[in-house]
Amino acid sequence: MAAAETQIKIQGVDKIFQGGDEGKDVIALQGINLEIPRGQFLCLLGPSGCGKSTLLNAIAGFSLPTNGQVLVENKEISEPGPDRGMVFQEYALFPWMSVEDNITFGLRIKNAPEDQVQKTLENLLEKLKLTEFRKRFPKDLSGGMRQRVAIARVLALDPPIMLMDEPFGALDALTRRSLQDELIKLWQETKKTVVFVTHSMEEAIYLADRIVVMTYRPGTVKKDLIVDLPRPRNPAANDFNALKREISDMVMAEQNRFQNAQLKGSTGD
Ligand code: ADP
Ligand code: MG
Repeated sequence: MAAAETQIKIQGVDKIFQGGDEGKDVIALQGINLEIPRGQFLCLLGPSGCGKSTLLNAIAGFSLPTNGQVLVENKEISEPGPDRGMVFQEYALFPWMSVEDNITFGLRIKNAPEDQVQKTLENLLEKLKLTEFRKRFPKDLSGGMRQRVAIARVLALDPPIMLMDEPFGALDALTRRSLQDELIKLWQETKKTVVFVTHSMEEAIYLADRIVVMTYRPGTVKKDLIVDLPRPRNPAANDFNALKREISDMVMAEQNRFQNAQLKGSTGD
């Protein structure tokens, strides 16, 4: 198979937040270069505060880089757009709308024809196992169900790129695993590009084609690795655990580096 073409290109991206901790500037991202091919499932992995959300927001166009640029299909991103859908950890649903209305909201805003709205709705309710909850409001749903609605709402607009910021971080282990399995199924069916942020090594290895491990302050790419384990993956398998140990050693080394640097009163090497 020929290598897929680059769809998202991150070129020399820095992000500096002015007046962060104690009024000091925070270098959230430094010199990030990544090329993401169409259809890849990429996980950004790293400890809290290492710049994962900042990088995802730069791709989404919510917050632009201080230096460098993000290109999607060779066009520089300057704002959010319909080609990029975002799923957040906190279910960003409209509390006053039913499941159905949340899912169809974007299509109605776009004045999509009613038969298309209905067809998309039925399809997504079924795919995300939401049919019997269709009339409920977010407050009457479990966390897992709310995330299903959030995913359905993004899929309704059929963006070629899905950006997901720790979408399963607040779920219990069983619910999380079933949503991971469904996400993989949806990804395989729709062939979308997924950029998925997590701080869980296991989640990254379970889901990703490729894992980009980030460092903490400044956020840089520490390691970029391809995960070629067969799917469906088995977290109890030897090759899964070998990879987990490898990444774990890397993350520990990074944590030690940062702590030592802090003890010396500097965050550089
Ligand atoms: P992650 O998603 O990996 O947990 P973030 O991208 O949220 O990390 O944050 C990266 C760093 O940038 C953190 O040190 C955070 O405190 C800082 N940061 C994020 N957003 C802002 C902001 N709006 N103003 C100041 N500092 C910020
Ligand atoms: Mg984050």
